[in-house]
Amino acid sequence: MVNILATSIEYLKGVGPKKADLMKTELGIFTYRDLLYHYPFRYIDRTKVYDISEIKGTEQLIQIKGKILKKEILGAQRRQRLVALIEDETGIMELVWFRSVQWLNKMVVVGQEYVAFGKPNLFNRKINIPHPELELFTESSLKTQFLQPVYHTTEKLTKQRLDSKGIWTLQKNLQEIIYRKIPENLSKEVRERMGFITHSEALRFIHIPDNPKDIEKARTRLSFEELFFQQLKMLRHRQLVKTAFAGKVLHNLDLVNTFYDDHLPFDLTGAQKRVVKEIYHDMCSGEQMNRLLQGDVGSGKTIVAFVCMLIAAGNGSQASIMAPTEILAEQHYTGLKPFCDAMGLRIAMLSGSTKEKDRKPILAMLKSGELDFIVGTHALLEDRVQFKELALSVIDEQHRFGVEQRSRMWNKNQEVYPHVLVMTATPIPRTLAMTLYGDLDVSVIDELPAGRKPVLTVHRFENKRLAVFGFLKKELEAGRQVYIVYPLIEESEKMDLKNLDEGFQSIKRAFPEYKNQISIVHGKMKPADKDFEMDRFVKRETKIMVATTVIEVGINVPNASVMVIENSERFGLSQLHQLRGRVGRGADQSYCILMSDYKLSKDGRTRLETMVRTSDGFEIAEIDLKLRGPGDMLGKKQSGVVELKLVNLSTDGELIKQTRSIAQEILTKDPNLEEEHNKPMVEYFNTWFKGEKNFGKIS
Ligand code: ADP
Ligand code: MG
Repeated sequence: MVNILATSIEYLKGVGPKKADLMKTELGIFTYRDLLYHYPFRYIDRTKVYDISEIKGTEQLIQIKGKILKKEILGAQRRQRLVALIEDETGIMELVWFRSVQWLNKMVVVGQEYVAFGKPNLFNRKINIPHPELELFTESSLKTQFLQPVYHTTEKLTKQRLDSKGIWTLQKNLQEIIYRKIPENLSKEVRERMGFITHSEALRFIHIPDNPKDIEKARTRLSFEELFFQQLKMLRHRQLVKTAFAGKVLHNLDLVNTFYDDHLPFDLTGAQKRVVKEIYHDMCSGEQMNRLLQGDVGSGKTIVAFVCMLIAAGNGSQASIMAPTEILAEQHYTGLKPFCDAMGLRIAMLSGSTKEKDRKPILAMLKSGELDFIVGTHALLEDRVQFKELALSVIDEQHRFGVEQRSRMWNKNQEVYPHVLVMTATPIPRTLAMTLYGDLDVSVIDELPAGRKPVLTVHRFENKRLAVFGFLKKELEAGRQVYIVYPLIEESEKMDLKNLDEGFQSIKRAFPEYKNQISIVHGKMKPADKDFEMDRFVKRETKIMVATTVIEVGINVPNASVMVIENSERFGLSQLHQLRGRVGRGADQSYCILMSDYKLSKDGRTRLETMVRTSDGFEIAEIDLKLRGPGDMLGKKQSGVVELKLVNLSTDGELIKQTRSIAQEILTKDPNLEEEHNKPMVEYFNTWFKGEKNFGKIS
């Protein structure tokens, strides 16, 4: 069946090839369907006719109805304007036009009744309407009162008479041919249960509403659709993966127990134990695991990952752990190596800078199975990295990787896909996680290791700088190390680098006794230089680390006890939280000092106050989501995130939960959506989720 909505936009009445080209390049509208989903972003209420006497001059767009009393062209040449007086039962006001004066002068007829529409303006204590739209008043103009939608458009389109009104005309032309021809896309059960209007009605009312209730009904239904099909897709995908791909069964816990009994220097927290159990359960289930492990900075994700790697090794298989940067990979390697040595397990590290002569034997040992574990960066994704039998692939700081990379780790095993554990220290509010990682199971470490003292956080203005430096001096004298972080935002990169350098110089002056023990690190440095400086700090050769946010992720220096953040008002909340997580990793009391300008925006103040008040990453993430919207949390483009036009991920949390549970319910009852009543959903899905293969297959 040829689908009418797939018709190219140029065939629509009122479009043609030239406008079609513009619509493609300017708005990405290629087909009837694209136009249909180009929703208005607001509506102007033209159902009300104002009395002239009630107009205050501060209103948005309004309309009045009255008779033209008089008109004249005022001003010379270029300053010419047409001024007309319009009168209704309650008063008189001026209408003014500055453009097309001569032409309008011919059109406007004194003594005629018009409907004038525009935005009133207060000028010299007199109210007028500049450039109103004017329509001759007839009996039928009363009947055409409506809510007028307003569409996004562009200057180029406007020049081709595709302003908001022009687009609306196209929408009306489109509705003439498609209304009632668009098939329903939800089952009757869902529609009735939710009290929805039909799909077709919703798509009509959003463009051509008769009253505000229509708009509400249309938006409710269409928002639901946006999320529902996304959830359905992700849950289905998850279900398919589970049933189609067997996972290696890894029962044996002997090695893990040896580790617990003889090598683990502390007790796991309750949360860590729970998460290990969840993962172990997956690894024994016979199904392939795809699990996201969320845990705040310092919550101890690495050791959890290692325990899981031990499960793999204890069952005669291999495991890998991939980190986004060389430093992090190195840190994992040096952290895990002693355990491996003690237990007779073999671990190696592989990164972009591994020398060819070292790489060869590592690759060979991976392939032969002599190596139990491999730690590395993106270098692990290369095709030449092959395993004898990879049973578990851990990906640390998942948000730094794209989905594609996640799936590339999958193919590292020929017969059975490895279990995949992705970890992130960016706490994501639950509802957002459902949309971003809807195809993963989620585990959360919501408890910090015992004895960890919360980082004491304060906010200081510039006038306290001396005191702050005095405090740093005391900490340094006690043998601790200090971070001082400067913002680096791309647009003002040069400026910021200058700030950073000035900061570096001033710190040298302020701490003369440490002037050779100060590191500086920023994103513009060569990776090797950066690593060199980082390394010096890790080894305590330098005491002060002056840096931009490059130190944000994962770095672990337990001896560092103070984090000073300069211009902290310029950082996002999650970023502040991440930075603060760099300290408080040892037994000493740690501090975070938020330096800021006196002038703070409302949001800026909220961010700093939140930081001072709480260290709960999930609470902070919720607030961040409210302040900024979800954009920043998305990181690299994630799978399954379709463009959301009506839904706001930061405020529509309830809707997300609702659509997910309904989608889940449907799939539980009818896993392959084969039952007759579910057909509309399958049809819709298979027609419109392009490039994502059919519902029954795995994308
Ligand atoms: P993150 O979750 O941020 O990756 P890490 O795994 O780097 O955190 O752990 C931070 C520090 O806490 C490490 O030094 C680690 O050895 C330590 N740690 C982890 N779990 C525990 C625990 N249960 N008790 C005490 N220290 C722990
Ligand atoms: Mg970590």
